Amino acid sequence: MILEPKQSTVLIVDDAPSNIRVMAAVLQEQHRVKTAMSGQQCIEMAIKYKPDLILLDIEMPGLSGYQVCEELKSMDETRDIPIIFVTGRVNIEDEEMGLRIGAVDYITKPIRPVILSARVDTHVTLKRQQDRLIKMAMHDQLTGLFNRHYMLEIVGQKLARARRHKTPLTVMLIDIDHFKKINDTHGHIVGDQILEHVGQFLFEQCRVEDTVARFGGEEFVVLMEPCGLNQAHYKAELMRDELSRLTPLDIDLTVSIGIAELNDDDNGFSTLLKRADDALYNAKESGRNCTVLSHTPELLARIS
Ligand code: GH3
Ligand code: MG
Ligand code: MG
Ligand code: MG
Repeated sequence: MILEPKQSTVLIVDDAPSNIRVMAAVLQEQHRVKTAMSGQQCIEMAIKYKPDLILLDIEMPGLSGYQVCEELKSMDETRDIPIIFVTGRVNIEDEEMGLRIGAVDYITKPIRPVILSARVDTHVTLKRQQDRLIKMAMHDQLTGLFNRHYMLEIVGQKLARARRHKTPLTVMLIDIDHFKKINDTHGHIVGDQILEHVGQFLFEQCRVEDTVARFGGEEFVVLMEPCGLNQAHYKAELMRDELSRLTPLDIDLTVSIGIAELNDDDNGFSTLLKRADDALYNAKESGRNCTVLSHTPELLARIS
């Protein structure tokens, strides 16, 4: 299940407290309202609170609303926050300018509560729908973990960073043993619940820097950085051991794990993943419920 905050957050930015008061009074019943009285403060709060919408005055001492808008649109972390200009400037050129630099709407003062409320609701709804779609595209519906698609999207950046900083990066492939038998014995619904339990367990065991994904049916991937092979091995064995004693829904289950660490010969995620997959295959061949490491010639030379 993918959780999202119940209430939307709207950031009101205006150098005049009376304007803030009027807008807050209109919006605070439906939304969590945050306020800022300068452009600089707006940027800081936008980064901190990631509001669903910003109502932005144009004329303010210091940074103008236009400058703030351009700044917010230039940063990855704030680019997708919709901005509505709320301003005393009524001429068409100003409105054109506002929309051209990325605002979704333009409202003129004096503030008319019904119009403000309606436009805010429209854009907040759109933003939240968009956020939901992005989340759905990135996450596995059953377990709430990241999905294969997301893992493949971000892995390039992670690999590049590991290489640039010369930090170890390890991939762990975890596959439930004889899962087909669990389905056959207890039915698919119970099988699904087991997958949820295992997903939850892995999510709780891993650090926030680790990326945990459901990669396929009953197969999970953990991407760890910075983390070397030995550390990953230790962690894998802890998790494997604990999973074998977990018995969710009173069902015995075990997992097999294959691990590979990125090395200079890997020309991308596919070769790294292939080595983890080969190690997983060996774990299955060795009787399951065990962890196997991918030992490359380079690594063996380092160890011996
Ligand atoms: P092994 O130990 O060799 O991994 O055996 P296994 O039975 O776990 O592997 P196999 O690949 O033969 O079967 C995987 C099973 O996982 C078959 C498929 O029906 C089941 N499965 C895949 N996705 C889901 C799902 O979303 N829900 C449920 N309940 N079952 C699923
Ligand atoms: Mg002003
Ligand atoms: Mg399996
Ligand atoms: Mg499998």
